[in-house]
Amino acid sequence: MKRPFNFSAGPAALPLTVLEKAQAEFLNVAETGLSVLEISHRSKAFEHIITQAEDRLRELLNIPANYQVLFLQGGASLQFSMLPLNFFAKKVAYVNSGSWASKAFKEAQIQAASRPVDVIWSGKENNYRAMPEQAFWASFDWQTAGYDYVHLTSNETIQGVALPSDFAHPGTPVLCDMSSDILSRPVNVESYDVIYAGAQKNMGPAGVTLVIVKDELLEKIPQGLPTLLDYRTHAEKGSMYNTPPVFAIYMVNLVAEWLLENGGLTAMHQKNKQQATALYDVIDSYADFYRGHADPAFRSLMNVTFTLPTPELEAQFIQEAAAQQLMSLKGHRSVGGIRASIYNACPDEAIAALCAFMKSFYQQHH
Ligand code: PMP
Repeated sequence: MKRPFNFSAGPAALPLTVLEKAQAEFLNVAETGLSVLEISHRSKAFEHIITQAEDRLRELLNIPANYQVLFLQGGASLQFSMLPLNFFAKKVAYVNSGSWASKAFKEAQIQAASRPVDVIWSGKENNYRAMPEQAFWASFDWQTAGYDYVHLTSNETIQGVALPSDFAHPGTPVLCDMSSDILSRPVNVESYDVIYAGAQKNMGPAGVTLVIVKDELLEKIPQGLPTLLDYRTHAEKGSMYNTPPVFAIYMVNLVAEWLLENGGLTAMHQKNKQQATALYDVIDSYADFYRGHADPAFRSLMNVTFTLPTPELEAQFIQEAAAQQLMSLKGHRSVGGIRASIYNACPDEAIAALCAFMKSFYQQHH
């Protein structure tokens, strides 16, 4: 059976070769004669898998030795709560760039107990079409503000806006949700103090969350937190204080291997730019019909969001696309419109098929 073209926002398309490898060794992982689902997480075989996953992620992202790499559960959403629990002492700052940033902010507010949770930049009035400009970082007086941290979202999965590039470290710890663009491009890890991401877009299946945290920050965690919600527990126990999500970590390891075999993050970034540009070019060429949501300077390379002249045409677009095996193009229920999620595993043929479909749909309906 031919696989459909999958534009799902997450859980999202995985590289076919990775799925095939997982299938081939499903009943016999690492010559154990058993499935990875039924061996102890303390076994030599699994220890090798989790160590290899960490090593490969360190290599791909060039993670310095003074950062811990943790594999946690509870999704990126639990990180929204754990970050303030561990690092909110007096005052924190949030950049409100879209739906996910706003959820992260709300979780800090829940824990605020009359301490300030400042929104230092918001895209809300502009319907989340942009991100802070480069100049914003320099213009802000971080020293006087004295924040425990500033929280960012590098790619807003729902609105399809992204931080254009890394920025100069402001001197205040930077915590960044990279759930929907981790491993899509090289990043300077040292520009951040915490990077976190649910795996289910670019890294593997749902069920594991990657947290990359600077040692210096771990020293600031107060005593007395619930054991499982304290980052130090996971750092000290190599993400094995309790049973980790073994299958998800196994899959992350295979995805990391695939990335290394395919030129790493520089090659991936190149591919992602080409694919996103092809789609945005179609949108811009038929601008009287397709309207891109994001301001061009902040367009996401992962989630391409746009609208059509009417909701009826959008429904028809989604239906006709599905009939051509172009799946999961419906925008998030909170914003509507169309969203094509084109993560690392998206093949060029999927982009070509979608571009051709968009052109022919335009010809018929404009
Ligand atoms: N942040 C971003 C940017 C996301 O895209 C998502 C999930 N779509 C989340 C956080 C929440 O992740 P999870 O479902 O793993 O809790």
